[in-house]
Amino acid sequence: MSGETLILNAGSSSLKFAIYIDEDDTPEVSGLIDRIGAGEAEIALKDASGQPLPAGAPGSVADHGEALMVAIRAMAKHYPDHTIKSVGHRVVHGGPEFAAPVLIDDAVEEKLMALTPLAPLHQPHCLAGIRAARAAFPDARHIACFDTAFHRSMPRLNELYAIPREHFDAGIRRYGFHGLSYDYIANALRDRHPDLSQGRVIVAHLGNGASLCAMRDGRSVATSMGFSALDGLAMGTRCGNIDPGVLLYLMDQGMSSAELSDMLYRRSGLLGLSGTSSDMRTLLASSAPEAAEAAAYFVQSVRRGIAELAAMLGGLETLVFTAGIGENAAAIRDAICAEMGWMGIRLDTAANDQGEPIISDSESGVQVLVIPTREDLTILSAVRAGG
Ligand code: ADP
Repeated sequence: MSGETLILNAGSSSLKFAIYIDEDDTPEVSGLIDRIGAGEAEIALKDASGQPLPAGAPGSVADHGEALMVAIRAMAKHYPDHTIKSVGHRVVHGGPEFAAPVLIDDAVEEKLMALTPLAPLHQPHCLAGIRAARAAFPDARHIACFDTAFHRSMPRLNELYAIPREHFDAGIRRYGFHGLSYDYIANALRDRHPDLSQGRVIVAHLGNGASLCAMRDGRSVATSMGFSALDGLAMGTRCGNIDPGVLLYLMDQGMSSAELSDMLYRRSGLLGLSGTSSDMRTLLASSAPEAAEAAAYFVQSVRRGIAELAAMLGGLETLVFTAGIGENAAAIRDAICAEMGWMGIRLDTAANDQGEPIISDSESGVQVLVIPTREDLTILSAVRAGG
């Protein structure tokens, strides 16, 4: 076989992997190793039709480098003749410099390492995956694709925080995330709705992590996430917008930065407000008032964010929903749009319930679309384009 591309996506305690062959957009084999560094890890492996493949029990997996070795061994059992020619790496942070995918060499790897303080919970895992993959496939091309890169088209004003300006030069600025998803949606819009893609667009990426991106001519103009992936919308376990005064107060009360970090990243958002679950499906199925309040807060934060970004765009022609909640939760899409008639948003209830690609009605001033995201395809096309 020829032209195999391995795509790696390192999360904080997981590694997603997939092999694509030649020009095929469906992975030949894909999988996930979960619970890395947390006792007994788990592995799931799927074939091209999405059917599970036996992968055994990996036991404890110390880090993302070891996870990659486990993944390679599991895939080799079913596909022994694969030769990896290229590896595409999802990298959370590209800092101010990386505005496009880049071929990884030692110098690039060092630059990515230097960005670790900007994303201490994620960058080390991406780097562990890169190091292990470069060692395992020394003759392959390794391409880094960044979650921040898509937003480097934002005007400087939208990258600023109103703190003393020397901090901006030291890297404290709004970077934005979910860029691989937004890049995919921008391309999908260009292909499917070229007329709309040139206009004022807001994309709502609503998954466990959630953010909004305002686009003009298919490029990011503003986004709800900022310096970190905590800002903006309420999320599964992350807080979203919060008055920094709250954090100062909690620190004065004796909370350490590690405790604050744990609270803001892992115990807030839908989980923090509901007290039971970070999962929107679970909350929607619950009769507990706290679950309903958590979902209502999420909806409110999305509406607030859409209005803010529409103001920055000077209007809105297209709203796109994507990711787990955006693609599947008709009730949440409905709740978000219900009171936005003043912005010209009107849903076709039946189309929304059925999850049609276009869910606005014929009177709506804003076209409302549902486009399933494929972050892996953004990486794949960068690798195929040569990085
Ligand atoms: P991640 O950010 O981890 O990639 P996803 O994009 O997979 O997350 O989104 C996960 C979220 O999507 C969860 O809150 C899940 O409950 C929600 N979700 C998925 N399917 C549905 C559904 N049918 N109804 C409501 N929420 C859903």
